[in-house]
Amino acid sequence: MTDTYLDLVNSGLGKEVASKLGLPRPSVLRRHTAGEPVAAGTVLVLGSSAGASAVAAHLLDEGADVRRSDDTSTTYAAIVMGLDDATAPRDLHPVVLEAAGALKRMDAGSRVIVLTRPAGHDDPEIAAVRAGTVGMMRSVAHEMRRGGTANAVVIEDGLEATAPSVLGAVRFFLSGRSAYVSGQPLLVSSAAGRLPLDPERPLDGKIAVVTGAARGIGAAIAKTLRRDGAQVIVVDIPAAGEQLAKVANEVQGTALQLDITAEDAGERILAHARQRYGWLDIVVHNAGITRDKLLANMDESRWDSVMAVNIESQLRMNRAFAASESFARDGRIVCLASTSGIAGNRGQSNYAASKAGVIGMVAASSAALTEHGGSINAVAPGFIETDMTAKIPFLTREVARRLSSLQQGGLPQDVAEAIAFLASDAAAGVSGQTLRVCGQNLVGA
Ligand code: NAD
Repeated sequence: MTDTYLDLVNSGLGKEVASKLGLPRPSVLRRHTAGEPVAAGTVLVLGSSAGASAVAAHLLDEGADVRRSDDTSTTYAAIVMGLDDATAPRDLHPVVLEAAGALKRMDAGSRVIVLTRPAGHDDPEIAAVRAGTVGMMRSVAHEMRRGGTANAVVIEDGLEATAPSVLGAVRFFLSGRSAYVSGQPLLVSSAAGRLPLDPERPLDGKIAVVTGAARGIGAAIAKTLRRDGAQVIVVDIPAAGEQLAKVANEVQGTALQLDITAEDAGERILAHARQRYGWLDIVVHNAGITRDKLLANMDESRWDSVMAVNIESQLRMNRAFAASESFARDGRIVCLASTSGIAGNRGQSNYAASKAGVIGMVAASSAALTEHGGSINAVAPGFIETDMTAKIPFLTREVARRLSSLQQGGLPQDVAEAIAFLASDAAAGVSGQTLRVCGQNLVGA
Protein backbone atom coordinates (compact mmCIF):
# COMPACT_ATOMS: atom_id res chain seq x y z
CA MET A 1 0.00 0.00 0.00
CA THR A 2 2.93 2.32 -0.49
CA ASP A 3 3.77 4.23 -3.61
CA THR A 4 7.39 3.17 -4.21
CA TYR A 5 7.65 5.26 -7.37
CA LEU A 6 6.75 8.45 -5.44
CA ASP A 7 9.48 7.72 -2.90
CA LEU A 8 11.98 6.92 -5.66
CA VAL A 9 11.51 10.11 -7.72
CA ASN A 10 11.85 12.18 -4.55
CA SER A 11 15.22 10.61 -3.69
CA GLY A 12 18.47 12.22 -4.95
CA LEU A 13 19.35 9.84 -7.78
CA GLY A 14 15.73 8.98 -8.67
CA LYS A 15 14.90 12.68 -9.11
CA GLU A 16 17.72 13.10 -11.62
CA VAL A 17 16.83 9.95 -13.60
CA ALA A 18 13.12 10.83 -13.74
CA SER A 19 13.87 14.33 -14.94
CA LYS A 20 16.28 13.08 -17.68
CA LEU A 21 13.72 10.54 -18.91
CA GLY A 22 10.84 13.03 -18.72
CA LEU A 23 8.93 10.77 -16.32
CA PRO A 24 6.19 12.18 -14.06
CA ARG A 25 7.60 13.52 -10.80
CA PRO A 26 4.85 13.62 -8.21
CA SER A 27 5.66 15.85 -5.22
CA VAL A 28 5.41 14.90 -1.58
CA LEU A 29 2.23 16.75 -0.54
CA ARG A 30 2.06 19.38 2.18
CA ARG A 31 -0.13 17.67 4.77
CA HIS A 32 -1.37 18.80 8.18
CA THR A 33 1.15 19.06 10.99
CA ALA A 34 0.28 19.86 14.60
CA GLY A 35 0.17 23.59 15.25
CA GLU A 36 0.37 24.61 11.58
CA PRO A 37 -0.42 28.32 11.10
CA VAL A 38 -3.54 29.41 9.18
CA ALA A 39 -1.33 29.92 6.10
CA ALA A 40 2.01 28.34 5.28
CA GLY A 41 3.48 31.69 4.14
CA THR A 42 2.48 34.94 2.44
CA VAL A 43 -1.07 35.08 1.08
CA LEU A 44 -1.98 37.30 -1.87
CA VAL A 45 -5.67 38.29 -1.70
CA LEU A 46 -6.78 39.84 -5.00
CA GLY A 47 -9.92 41.80 -5.88
CA SER A 48 -12.14 44.19 -3.98
CA SER A 49 -15.14 41.89 -3.54
CA ALA A 50 -16.84 41.32 -0.17
CA GLY A 51 -15.26 37.84 -0.16
CA ALA A 52 -11.75 39.19 -0.71
CA SER A 53 -12.21 41.77 2.08
CA ALA A 54 -13.64 39.20 4.52
CA VAL A 55 -10.86 36.69 3.87
CA ALA A 56 -8.08 39.31 4.04
CA ALA A 57 -9.46 40.71 7.33
CA HIS A 58 -9.78 37.23 8.84
CA LEU A 59 -6.27 36.15 7.83
CA LEU A 60 -4.78 39.40 9.16
CA ASP A 61 -6.61 38.81 12.44
CA GLU A 62 -5.03 35.37 12.57
CA GLY A 63 -1.58 36.87 12.16
CA ALA A 64 -0.98 35.84 8.53
CA ASP A 65 1.20 37.87 6.17
CA VAL A 66 -1.42 39.19 3.72
CA ARG A 67 -0.81 41.26 0.57
CA ARG A 68 -3.56 42.94 -1.46
CA SER A 69 -1.48 43.41 -4.62
CA ASP A 70 1.44 41.63 -6.22
CA ASP A 71 4.79 43.39 -5.95
CA THR A 72 6.29 41.06 -8.60
CA SER A 73 9.05 39.76 -6.29
CA THR A 74 7.32 38.09 -3.30
CA THR A 75 6.78 34.32 -3.33
CA TYR A 76 3.38 33.15 -2.13
CA ALA A 77 2.00 30.22 -0.17
CA ALA A 78 -1.47 31.05 -1.46
CA ILE A 79 -3.44 33.29 -3.80
CA VAL A 80 -7.09 34.08 -3.05
CA MET A 81 -9.02 35.44 -6.02
CA GLY A 82 -12.08 37.42 -4.93
CA LEU A 83 -14.47 36.99 -7.86
CA ASP A 84 -17.69 36.77 -5.86
CA ASP A 85 -18.80 40.22 -7.10
CA ALA A 86 -18.28 39.48 -10.82
CA THR A 87 -21.37 40.16 -12.95
CA ALA A 88 -19.99 39.73 -16.47
CA PRO A 89 -17.21 37.64 -18.08
CA ARG A 90 -15.00 40.73 -18.54
CA ASP A 91 -14.92 41.16 -14.74
CA LEU A 92 -12.55 38.19 -14.47
CA HIS A 93 -9.76 39.97 -16.34
CA PRO A 94 -8.11 42.19 -13.66
CA VAL A 95 -8.00 39.64 -10.85
CA VAL A 96 -7.15 36.62 -12.98
CA LEU A 97 -4.36 38.35 -14.88
CA GLU A 98 -2.79 39.76 -11.72
CA ALA A 99 -2.88 36.22 -10.28
CA ALA A 100 -1.27 34.96 -13.51
CA GLY A 101 1.94 36.88 -12.86
CA ALA A 102 2.11 35.80 -9.23
CA LEU A 103 1.58 32.12 -10.12
CA LYS A 104 5.17 32.01 -11.34
CA ARG A 105 6.33 32.57 -7.75
CA MET A 106 4.52 29.98 -5.66
CA ASP A 107 5.99 27.99 -2.77
CA ALA A 108 5.85 24.17 -2.80
CA GLY A 109 2.45 22.92 -1.61
CA SER A 110 0.83 26.26 -2.45
CA ARG A 111 -2.89 26.95 -2.68
CA VAL A 112 -5.12 28.91 -5.04
CA ILE A 113 -8.60 29.64 -3.69
CA VAL A 114 -11.26 31.23 -5.86
CA LEU A 115 -14.27 32.91 -4.26
CA THR A 116 -17.41 32.91 -6.36
CA ARG A 117 -21.22 32.64 -6.23
CA PRO A 118 -23.44 29.79 -7.59
CA ALA A 119 -23.70 29.54 -11.37
CA GLY A 120 -27.42 28.73 -11.22
CA HIS A 121 -28.66 32.28 -11.92
CA ASP A 122 -31.42 33.64 -14.17
CA ASP A 123 -29.23 36.35 -15.69
CA PRO A 124 -27.18 34.70 -18.49
CA GLU A 125 -24.23 37.07 -18.03
CA ILE A 126 -24.02 36.42 -14.31
CA ALA A 127 -24.44 32.68 -14.84
CA ALA A 128 -21.69 32.79 -17.49
CA VAL A 129 -19.11 34.54 -15.35
CA ARG A 130 -19.78 32.34 -12.32
CA ALA A 131 -19.60 29.10 -14.30
CA GLY A 132 -16.53 30.52 -16.06
CA THR A 133 -14.85 31.17 -12.73
CA VAL A 134 -15.13 27.50 -11.77
CA GLY A 135 -13.90 26.45 -15.23
CA MET A 136 -10.87 28.72 -14.83
CA MET A 137 -10.19 27.34 -11.34
CA ARG A 138 -10.30 23.75 -12.61
CA SER A 139 -7.74 24.56 -15.30
CA VAL A 140 -5.47 26.33 -12.82
CA ALA A 141 -5.68 23.21 -10.61
CA HIS A 142 -4.33 21.16 -13.55
CA GLU A 143 -1.50 23.67 -13.94
CA MET A 144 -0.35 23.81 -10.30
CA ARG A 145 3.14 22.50 -9.67
CA ARG A 146 5.07 21.06 -6.70
CA GLY A 147 2.00 19.63 -4.96
CA GLY A 148 -0.05 22.82 -5.23
CA THR A 149 -3.85 22.78 -5.43
CA ALA A 150 -6.68 25.08 -6.57
CA ASN A 151 -10.25 25.02 -5.29
CA ALA A 152 -13.29 27.32 -5.11
CA VAL A 153 -15.50 28.42 -2.26
CA VAL A 154 -18.95 29.08 -3.72
CA ILE A 155 -20.91 31.51 -1.55
CA GLU A 156 -24.71 31.22 -1.76
CA ASP A 157 -26.46 34.34 -3.07
CA GLY A 158 -27.55 36.53 -0.18
CA LEU A 159 -25.06 34.96 2.22
CA GLU A 160 -22.49 37.33 3.77
CA ALA A 161 -18.91 36.48 2.86
CA THR A 162 -18.07 36.69 6.58
CA ALA A 163 -20.24 33.59 7.30
CA PRO A 164 -18.31 31.13 9.51
CA SER A 165 -18.30 28.35 6.93
CA VAL A 166 -17.00 30.64 4.16
CA LEU A 167 -13.99 31.35 6.35
CA GLY A 168 -13.97 27.73 7.56
CA ALA A 169 -13.80 26.47 3.96
CA VAL A 170 -11.05 28.95 3.06
CA ARG A 171 -9.07 27.82 6.13
CA PHE A 172 -9.55 24.16 5.13
CA PHE A 173 -8.34 24.76 1.58
CA LEU A 174 -5.33 26.80 2.81
CA SER A 175 -4.33 24.12 5.30
CA GLY A 176 -2.43 20.85 4.97
CA ARG A 177 -5.74 19.10 5.71
CA SER A 178 -6.84 19.57 2.08
CA ALA A 179 -3.59 18.24 0.55
CA TYR A 180 -5.34 15.80 -1.84
CA VAL A 181 -8.36 18.00 -2.69
CA SER A 182 -7.91 19.88 -5.95
CA GLY A 183 -10.11 21.29 -8.70
CA GLN A 184 -13.19 21.25 -6.45
CA PRO A 185 -15.91 23.85 -5.85
CA LEU A 186 -17.49 23.73 -2.38
CA LEU A 187 -20.85 25.43 -1.83
CA VAL A 188 -21.47 27.24 1.45
CA SER A 189 -25.20 27.74 1.70
CA SER A 190 -25.88 29.11 5.18
CA ALA A 191 -24.53 31.19 8.04
CA ALA A 192 -24.77 28.24 10.44
CA GLY A 193 -21.79 27.17 12.53
CA ARG A 194 -18.76 28.78 14.08
CA LEU A 195 -15.01 28.69 13.83
CA PRO A 196 -13.37 26.59 16.56
CA LEU A 197 -11.88 28.25 19.64
CA ASP A 198 -8.90 25.91 19.31
CA PRO A 199 -8.16 25.12 15.64
CA GLU A 200 -6.25 21.99 16.74
CA ARG A 201 -9.34 20.58 18.51
CA PRO A 202 -12.36 21.54 16.40
CA LEU A 203 -14.32 18.47 17.59
CA ASP A 204 -13.80 18.94 21.32
CA GLY A 205 -16.67 17.43 23.32
CA LYS A 206 -18.28 15.67 20.32
CA ILE A 207 -19.28 12.01 20.25
CA ALA A 208 -18.68 10.33 16.89
CA VAL A 209 -19.27 6.92 15.35
CA VAL A 210 -17.28 5.58 12.40
CA THR A 211 -18.42 2.42 10.59
CA GLY A 212 -15.92 0.10 8.90
CA ALA A 213 -13.22 1.45 11.21
CA ALA A 214 -11.10 -1.69 11.69
CA ARG A 215 -8.75 -0.74 8.86
CA GLY A 216 -8.07 1.50 5.86
CA ILE A 217 -9.87 4.80 5.52
CA GLY A 218 -12.20 4.07 8.47
CA ALA A 219 -9.30 3.58 10.88
CA ALA A 220 -7.72 6.83 9.63
CA ILE A 221 -11.04 8.66 10.15
CA ALA A 222 -11.32 7.37 13.73
CA LYS A 223 -7.77 8.54 14.52
CA THR A 224 -8.30 11.94 12.91
CA LEU A 225 -11.60 12.59 14.70
CA ARG A 226 -9.86 11.65 17.96
CA ARG A 227 -6.90 13.93 17.16
CA ASP A 228 -9.41 16.75 16.60
CA GLY A 229 -10.93 16.18 20.05
CA ALA A 230 -13.89 13.81 19.56
CA GLN A 231 -14.74 10.66 21.55
CA VAL A 232 -14.99 7.89 18.98
CA ILE A 233 -17.07 4.71 18.73
CA VAL A 234 -15.62 2.36 16.12
CA VAL A 235 -17.85 -0.17 14.35
CA ASP A 236 -16.96 -3.14 12.16
CA ILE A 237 -18.07 -6.72 11.47
CA PRO A 238 -17.34 -9.35 14.18
CA ALA A 239 -14.77 -11.04 11.87
CA ALA A 240 -12.64 -7.87 12.12
CA GLY A 241 -13.07 -7.75 15.92
CA GLU A 242 -9.38 -8.03 16.81
CA GLN A 243 -8.30 -5.23 14.47
CA LEU A 244 -11.26 -3.17 15.64
CA ALA A 245 -10.23 -3.51 19.29
CA LYS A 246 -6.73 -2.27 18.37
CA VAL A 247 -8.15 0.83 16.71
CA ALA A 248 -10.50 1.43 19.66
CA ASN A 249 -7.52 1.28 22.02
CA GLU A 250 -5.49 3.62 19.89
CA VAL A 251 -8.24 6.24 19.85
CA GLN A 252 -9.16 5.62 23.50
CA GLY A 253 -12.66 4.95 22.27
CA THR A 254 -15.10 2.05 22.36
CA ALA A 255 -15.65 -0.76 19.87
CA LEU A 256 -18.99 -2.07 18.66
CA GLN A 257 -18.97 -5.30 16.62
CA LEU A 258 -21.86 -4.96 14.26
CA ASP A 259 -22.81 -5.82 10.70
CA ILE A 260 -24.33 -2.55 9.47
CA THR A 261 -26.74 -4.41 7.19
CA ALA A 262 -28.62 -5.63 10.30
CA GLU A 263 -32.17 -4.22 10.44
CA ASP A 264 -31.52 -2.65 13.86
CA ALA A 265 -27.95 -1.38 13.19
CA GLY A 266 -28.94 2.29 13.74
CA GLU A 267 -30.72 1.50 17.01
CA ARG A 268 -27.74 -0.54 18.25
CA ILE A 269 -25.31 2.30 17.52
CA LEU A 270 -27.63 4.73 19.31
CA ALA A 271 -27.98 2.41 22.32
CA HIS A 272 -24.18 2.04 22.55
CA ALA A 273 -23.65 5.81 22.31
CA ARG A 274 -26.39 6.51 24.88
CA GLN A 275 -25.01 3.98 27.33
CA ARG A 276 -21.34 5.00 27.06
CA TYR A 277 -21.52 8.73 26.35
CA GLY A 278 -25.13 9.89 26.71
CA TRP A 279 -25.69 10.96 23.09
CA LEU A 280 -24.29 11.01 19.52
CA ASP A 281 -23.16 14.07 17.48
CA ILE A 282 -21.33 12.75 14.42
CA VAL A 283 -21.95 9.76 12.16
CA VAL A 284 -19.43 8.70 9.52
CA HIS A 285 -20.87 6.09 7.16
CA ASN A 286 -17.57 4.67 5.94
CA ALA A 287 -18.09 0.88 5.71
CA GLY A 288 -18.22 -0.16 2.08
CA ILE A 289 -17.42 -3.08 -0.19
CA THR A 290 -16.67 -3.75 -3.85
CA ARG A 291 -17.75 -6.86 -5.77
CA ASP A 292 -16.61 -5.93 -9.28
CA LYS A 293 -17.97 -7.67 -12.42
CA LEU A 294 -19.07 -6.42 -15.82
CA LEU A 295 -22.83 -6.04 -15.72
CA ALA A 296 -23.10 -8.76 -18.38
CA ASN A 297 -21.59 -11.19 -15.86
CA MET A 298 -23.22 -9.77 -12.72
CA ASP A 299 -24.86 -12.17 -10.29
CA GLU A 300 -27.47 -11.56 -7.64
CA SER A 301 -25.15 -11.90 -4.68
CA ARG A 302 -22.62 -9.35 -5.99
CA TRP A 303 -25.34 -6.84 -6.82
CA ASP A 304 -27.33 -7.27 -3.62
CA SER A 305 -24.40 -7.27 -1.18
CA VAL A 306 -22.92 -4.04 -2.56
CA MET A 307 -26.30 -2.28 -2.49
CA ALA A 308 -27.01 -3.59 1.02
CA VAL A 309 -23.72 -2.44 2.59
CA ASN A 310 -23.03 0.74 0.64
CA ILE A 311 -26.43 2.43 0.44
CA GLU A 312 -29.38 0.53 1.91
CA SER A 313 -27.78 0.34 5.36
CA GLN A 314 -27.02 4.08 5.34
CA LEU A 315 -30.62 4.93 4.40
CA ARG A 316 -31.96 2.67 7.16
CA MET A 317 -29.56 3.94 9.83
CA ASN A 318 -30.25 7.58 8.95
CA ARG A 319 -33.97 6.96 9.48
CA ALA A 320 -33.15 5.59 12.95
CA PHE A 321 -30.91 8.59 13.78
CA ALA A 322 -33.55 11.08 12.61
CA ALA A 323 -36.17 9.43 14.82
CA SER A 324 -33.98 9.36 17.94
CA GLU A 325 -33.61 11.93 20.70
CA SER A 326 -30.09 10.60 21.32
CA PHE A 327 -28.85 11.97 17.99
CA ALA A 328 -27.95 15.65 18.47
CA ARG A 329 -30.32 18.06 16.74
CA ASP A 330 -27.27 19.76 15.24
CA GLY A 331 -25.74 16.37 14.39
CA ARG A 332 -23.46 15.91 11.41
CA ILE A 333 -23.54 12.95 9.02
CA VAL A 334 -20.71 12.36 6.57
CA CYS A 335 -21.00 9.54 4.02
CA LEU A 336 -18.42 7.84 1.83
CA ALA A 337 -19.28 8.12 -1.85
CA SER A 338 -16.70 7.54 -4.61
CA THR A 339 -15.63 9.12 -7.88
CA SER A 340 -16.99 5.89 -9.43
CA GLY A 341 -20.40 7.19 -8.37
CA ILE A 342 -19.78 10.37 -10.37
CA ALA A 343 -18.19 9.14 -13.60
CA GLY A 344 -18.92 5.39 -13.46
CA ASN A 345 -16.22 2.78 -13.77
CA ARG A 346 -15.90 -0.37 -15.88
CA GLY A 347 -16.86 -3.42 -13.85
CA GLN A 348 -18.49 -1.34 -11.12
CA SER A 349 -22.14 -0.91 -12.11
CA ASN A 350 -23.19 -2.18 -8.67
CA TYR A 351 -20.65 -0.06 -6.78
CA ALA A 352 -21.37 3.05 -8.90
CA ALA A 353 -25.13 2.62 -8.36
CA SER A 354 -24.58 2.47 -4.61
CA LYS A 355 -22.15 5.39 -4.46
CA ALA A 356 -24.16 7.62 -6.82
CA GLY A 357 -27.04 6.63 -4.56
CA VAL A 358 -25.14 8.06 -1.59
CA ILE A 359 -24.70 11.36 -3.44
CA GLY A 360 -28.43 11.49 -4.19
CA MET A 361 -29.36 10.55 -0.62
CA VAL A 362 -27.16 13.29 0.83
CA ALA A 363 -28.67 15.99 -1.40
CA ALA A 364 -32.21 14.87 -0.58
CA SER A 365 -31.67 14.53 3.19
CA SER A 366 -30.05 17.91 3.70
CA ALA A 367 -33.12 20.10 4.30
CA ALA A 368 -34.39 17.96 7.18
CA LEU A 369 -31.05 18.19 8.97
CA THR A 370 -30.22 21.87 8.34
CA GLU A 371 -33.61 22.84 9.80
CA HIS A 372 -32.13 22.16 13.26
CA GLY A 373 -28.52 23.22 12.59
CA GLY A 374 -27.36 19.76 11.49
CA SER A 375 -25.77 18.79 8.18
CA ILE A 376 -25.21 15.83 5.86
CA ASN A 377 -22.48 15.66 3.24
CA ALA A 378 -20.49 13.10 1.31
CA VAL A 379 -16.85 12.74 0.44
CA ALA A 380 -16.00 11.08 -2.86
CA PRO A 381 -12.48 9.65 -2.77
CA GLY A 382 -10.62 8.91 -5.99
CA PHE A 383 -7.72 6.47 -5.84
CA ILE A 384 -6.67 5.98 -2.21
CA GLU A 385 -3.84 3.65 -1.11
CA THR A 386 -5.70 0.96 0.92
CA ASP A 387 -6.30 -2.81 1.02
CA MET A 388 -9.27 -2.19 -1.30
CA THR A 389 -7.12 -0.63 -4.05
CA ALA A 390 -4.16 -2.98 -3.41
CA LYS A 391 -6.38 -5.66 -5.02
CA ILE A 392 -6.37 -3.77 -8.36
CA PRO A 393 -3.97 -5.32 -10.96
CA PHE A 394 -0.56 -3.56 -10.98
CA LEU A 395 -0.77 -1.74 -14.32
CA THR A 396 -4.31 -0.48 -13.81
CA ARG A 397 -3.29 0.64 -10.34
CA GLU A 398 -0.25 2.53 -11.66
CA VAL A 399 -2.39 4.31 -14.29
CA ALA A 400 -5.02 5.23 -11.68
CA ARG A 401 -2.29 6.71 -9.47
CA ARG A 402 -0.56 8.84 -12.09
CA LEU A 403 -3.61 10.10 -14.00
CA SER A 404 -4.44 12.84 -11.54
CA SER A 405 -3.19 16.40 -11.34
CA LEU A 406 -1.13 15.45 -8.28
CA GLN A 407 0.18 12.33 -10.11
CA GLN A 408 -0.27 10.07 -7.08
CA GLY A 409 -2.88 8.21 -5.08
CA GLY A 410 -4.20 9.76 -1.90
CA LEU A 411 -3.67 8.41 1.60
CA PRO A 412 -6.49 7.34 3.96
CA GLN A 413 -5.47 10.37 6.01
CA ASP A 414 -6.43 12.71 3.14
CA VAL A 415 -10.00 11.39 3.10
CA ALA A 416 -10.14 11.50 6.89
CA GLU A 417 -9.13 15.17 6.95
CA ALA A 418 -11.97 16.16 4.60
CA ILE A 419 -14.41 14.17 6.71
CA ALA A 420 -13.18 15.74 9.94
CA PHE A 421 -13.67 19.17 8.38
CA LEU A 422 -17.24 18.37 7.25
CA ALA A 423 -17.97 16.95 10.73
CA SER A 424 -16.89 20.19 12.40
CA ASP A 425 -19.00 23.22 13.28
CA ALA A 426 -16.80 25.28 10.96
CA ALA A 427 -18.53 23.44 8.09
CA ALA A 428 -22.08 23.68 9.46
CA GLY A 429 -23.00 26.00 6.59
CA VAL A 430 -22.11 23.28 4.07
CA SER A 431 -24.81 20.64 3.55
CA GLY A 432 -26.11 18.34 0.85
CA GLN A 433 -22.71 18.49 -0.90
CA THR A 434 -20.28 15.89 -2.19
CA LEU A 435 -16.64 16.88 -1.91
CA ARG A 436 -14.20 14.93 -4.05
CA VAL A 437 -10.87 13.95 -2.50
CA CYS A 438 -9.19 12.69 -5.63
CA GLY A 439 -6.15 14.82 -6.46
CA GLN A 440 -8.20 16.03 -9.46
CA ASN A 441 -8.31 12.56 -10.92
CA LEU A 442 -8.50 12.60 -14.71
CA VAL A 443 -10.16 9.19 -14.79
CA GLY A 444 -13.66 9.48 -13.43
CA ALA A 445 -13.63 13.25 -13.75
P1 NAD B 1 -11.52 -1.44 3.23
O1 NAD B 1 -12.04 -2.62 2.51
O2 NAD B 1 -10.03 -1.36 3.47
O3 NAD B 1 -12.28 -1.25 4.62
C1 NAD B 1 -13.67 -1.31 4.71
C2 NAD B 1 -14.07 -1.71 6.13
O4 NAD B 1 -15.50 -1.81 6.17
C3 NAD B 1 -13.51 -3.07 6.54
O5 NAD B 1 -12.90 -3.00 7.81
C4 NAD B 1 -14.72 -3.97 6.53
O6 NAD B 1 -14.65 -5.04 7.47
C5 NAD B 1 -15.84 -2.98 6.89
N1 NAD B 1 -17.15 -3.48 6.50
C6 NAD B 1 -17.50 -4.04 5.31
N2 NAD B 1 -18.77 -4.47 5.35
C7 NAD B 1 -19.25 -4.16 6.58
C8 NAD B 1 -20.50 -4.35 7.22
N3 NAD B 1 -21.52 -4.95 6.60
N4 NAD B 1 -20.64 -3.91 8.48
C9 NAD B 1 -19.62 -3.31 9.14
N5 NAD B 1 -18.42 -3.11 8.59
C10 NAD B 1 -18.23 -3.53 7.31
O7 NAD B 1 -12.02 -0.17 2.40
P2 NAD B 1 -11.43 1.31 2.29
O8 NAD B 1 -10.59 1.40 1.07
O9 NAD B 1 -10.87 1.75 3.57
O10 NAD B 1 -12.77 2.11 1.96
C11 NAD B 1 -13.56 2.75 2.95
C12 NAD B 1 -14.72 3.47 2.25
O11 NAD B 1 -14.19 4.39 1.26
C13 NAD B 1 -15.65 2.54 1.48
O12 NAD B 1 -16.99 3.03 1.62
C14 NAD B 1 -15.19 2.66 0.06
O13 NAD B 1 -16.20 2.35 -0.85
C15 NAD B 1 -14.79 4.13 0.01
N6 NAD B 1 -13.84 4.44 -1.08
C16 NAD B 1 -12.57 3.91 -1.08
C17 NAD B 1 -11.71 4.26 -2.12
C18 NAD B 1 -10.29 3.76 -2.17
O14 NAD B 1 -9.58 4.12 -3.10
N7 NAD B 1 -9.83 2.95 -1.23
C19 NAD B 1 -12.15 5.08 -3.16
C20 NAD B 1 -13.43 5.56 -3.13
C21 NAD B 1 -14.28 5.24 -2.08
